[in-house]
Amino acid sequence: MTDRYASFVQSKAGRALVKRLGLPDPPRLRRHTPGDPLVAGPVLLGAATGGRLAEPVGKILTAAGVELSDPAAVDDTAARFGALVYDATGITDSTGLRQLYDFFHPQARALLPSGRVIVLGTPPAECDSPREATAQRALEGLTRSIGKEFGRGVTAQLVHVTKDAGNAAGTLTSLESTLRFLLSGRSAYVSGQVVRVGAGTAQPPTDWDRPLDGQVVLVTGAARGIGAALARVLARDGAQVVALDIPAAGDELAAVANEIGGSAVQLDLTAPDAPTRLAEHLAGRHGRVDVVVHNAGITRDKTLGRMDADRWDQVLDVNLSSQERINDVLLARDLIPAGGRIVSVSSIAGIAGNRGQTNYATSKAGVIGLVESLAPALRGRGISVNAVAPGFIETRLTARVPLALREAGRRMNSMSQGGLPVDVAETIGWLAWPASGAVSGNVVRVCGQSLLGA
Ligand code: NAD
Repeated sequence: MTDRYASFVQSKAGRALVKRLGLPDPPRLRRHTPGDPLVAGPVLLGAATGGRLAEPVGKILTAAGVELSDPAAVDDTAARFGALVYDATGITDSTGLRQLYDFFHPQARALLPSGRVIVLGTPPAECDSPREATAQRALEGLTRSIGKEFGRGVTAQLVHVTKDAGNAAGTLTSLESTLRFLLSGRSAYVSGQVVRVGAGTAQPPTDWDRPLDGQVVLVTGAARGIGAALARVLARDGAQVVALDIPAAGDELAAVANEIGGSAVQLDLTAPDAPTRLAEHLAGRHGRVDVVVHNAGITRDKTLGRMDADRWDQVLDVNLSSQERINDVLLARDLIPAGGRIVSVSSIAGIAGNRGQTNYATSKAGVIGLVESLAPALRGRGISVNAVAPGFIETRLTARVPLALREAGRRMNSMSQGGLPVDVAETIGWLAWPASGAVSGNVVRVCGQSLLGA
């Protein structure tokens, strides 16, 4: 589906009108193409006094070929950066928050279009004192406001790095995949998020342009929309994709699988024998499944008073219960090895609720519960579990939304536009990488910092 307004504002006449009337001005977002430089320009790396992350982060970025600038050496206001990265872990008291102002204020106009702001902090629950926890909690307000303020496709995130992340040698390989994702065009439509990086094991790839090399990945609902984009992105990144969808979508599914050199499985996830058939297929063909992406989902909208029980049951079964049944069987049969990944697709409706979607929002909030409860339970097996919560994404599903609501959904976010299926796919890709083992139990919104549920 095309966003005609966004195309119009890129034209000469459109630009003039937008300026004169103060209309929303959707920027062209920088999206990832293999071979792209990681960031669009140099990175300004700053730190509060006593921060524990600036040094290892500096090493990671330098090794990744990024040009680093030191705030003390920036003397002119004309300097332009691809990203501002700030280690705030040294802030242990509210008075120390002034250091944020001192770093960001002079750089408020210094970012290139689609630039990146990353603030690194300590999870408040891990802080040594209430004062430190208070100061660390305050970082969320700064990053979320920067995301809303800087415009031009700039994104801003807070990354909580636990104290036990990293290894004895003082390197933080576990943080690298998240830094790379957030700095790159892969995270074009992710903003205002708090991501937690913990102590899990990270296996860096030999080639960061193929971070899923050799991984067997199952994508449900792969015939179209977000699932088809997912299959393409994960295959581009080196995965062997098993694409699954209902038999009625068999032709579309086969086309996707053929295009990417993957295999197709026609299966209705709600069939009583679906989990065992799927497990047998994966065991027989591949002997395992490294990554399970639960993407298949349906809507059957009606206000609660008018909703028949069938609509409720179908939505809960496809969107939530089938995920649980499949996880149970794949885990019981040890088909997901150590280093495995489970990524579920939720929705901002599961966070904010939505009129006419009690069934859908219940199922999608349940998906968040599934992730939050399964992640600690599977930590010991080395399996990470995360969710993405898409906002307004341009697909057939949103094309059916009435025009006025559709326009509101598109514009009510920091990017003034809907996201693309590829934006959700890139985010799921990052969570699926072997290098992202330290990222578990997260719910990452892919919503351009939507005002809904904010
Ligand atoms: P879509 O309708 O285009 O695709 C969903 C796919 O799932 C279809 O190919 C469908 O055949 C398949 N599917 C449905 N029931 C199935 C079953 N029982 N067994 C196997 N496959 C089944 O939807 P989409 O927009 O690509 O959405 C993908 C996911 O993203 C869904 O979970 C959806 O809830 C979620 N999501 C989408 C948006 C958006 O804006 N499009 C926003 C938030 C969340």
